Amino acid sequence: MTAYRIDGKAIAARVRADVAADVDRIKREHGFQPGLAVVLVGEDPASKVYVRNKAQQTVEVGMQSFEHKLSEDTTEAFLLDLVAKLNADPNVHGILVQMPLPKHIDSVKVLDSIDPAKDVDGFHPMNVGKLSIGERALAPCTPVGSIILAKSVKHDLSGLEAVVVGRSNIVGKPMAQLLLRENCTVTICHSRTRDLPGVVKRADLVVAAIGKPEFVKGDWIKPGAIVIDVGINRILKPDGKGKLVGDVAYAEAAEVASAITPVPGGVGPMTIACLLKNTVEAALMQKGLPAQAA
Ligand code: NDP
Repeated sequence: MTAYRIDGKAIAARVRADVAADVDRIKREHGFQPGLAVVLVGEDPASKVYVRNKAQQTVEVGMQSFEHKLSEDTTEAFLLDLVAKLNADPNVHGILVQMPLPKHIDSVKVLDSIDPAKDVDGFHPMNVGKLSIGERALAPCTPVGSIILAKSVKHDLSGLEAVVVGRSNIVGKPMAQLLLRENCTVTICHSRTRDLPGVVKRADLVVAAIGKPEFVKGDWIKPGAIVIDVGINRILKPDGKGKLVGDVAYAEAAEVASAITPVPGGVGPMTIACLLKNTVEAALMQKGLPAQAA
């Protein structure tokens, strides 16, 4: 079997098109323009690229983009004051503080200071709690995107054995909650899991979020399983050039799975698309409006 390659780039483009249509409808029917504020502190090159892409895609879907670029020596008090101002600004419906922050700033304190209603990253304890008790909540973008990818090949995930490898707060745990919401039977694995290959082998749906290049092998995968690879790892090829690989040994796994996401071009492109989707959802919730179909 050679697995169907799930095209995250194409699916992310569809999500953005749906978001643009939602934004248009909100402007026409409700008379306001959703807005996303992104705050970058310091000069981290990767963060600068992410923030530039986020701002560009925000404008492309018709939303207002507010960029705040602060110097590396910004104080925690100044950043908290900026977040308070954004919390109070009626034109800002979503707030994202780009991680990592410089070491002298307490990231948890900053993330917790974001109004949960504007927390489009879905990291605030209020949203984590709401997600876990099944209330309408802003959920972290990468797991939301991963669910959309899985559902692109199997619309109803209900009853599937799902195994999530990784238990981080930004990927593994929220991923497990979202799979539970889809009525999967969910197992979460981590570094202390006994017989990881055996547990993964039970899964109809595997989500790998480990941060170790090509860690999940082809012979761990149950024939016909769906594989969602969240990992992004930069490795050096023998010729000394860099290459991005996932947490799954793609070529081996693709021989066994029914569908698999590539790296790059799988989960990666979904993250910003789902950030935009979350901003629309945040704007709707703040106005007491129902969720859009997109
Ligand atoms: P973390 O380092 O926070 O978590 C990694 C998890 O993997 C931990 O729960 C850890 O277990 C588990 N783990 C580590 N080693 C093993 C092992 N040998 N066996 C089983 N489990 C293991 O990573 P993140 O969740 O932040 O990210 C995971 C990957 O996803 C990374 O490659 C990251 O780059 C990528 N990523 C991609 C995004 C995207 O947009 N596509 C967004 C975010 C992340 P334990 O808890 O026991 O230590």
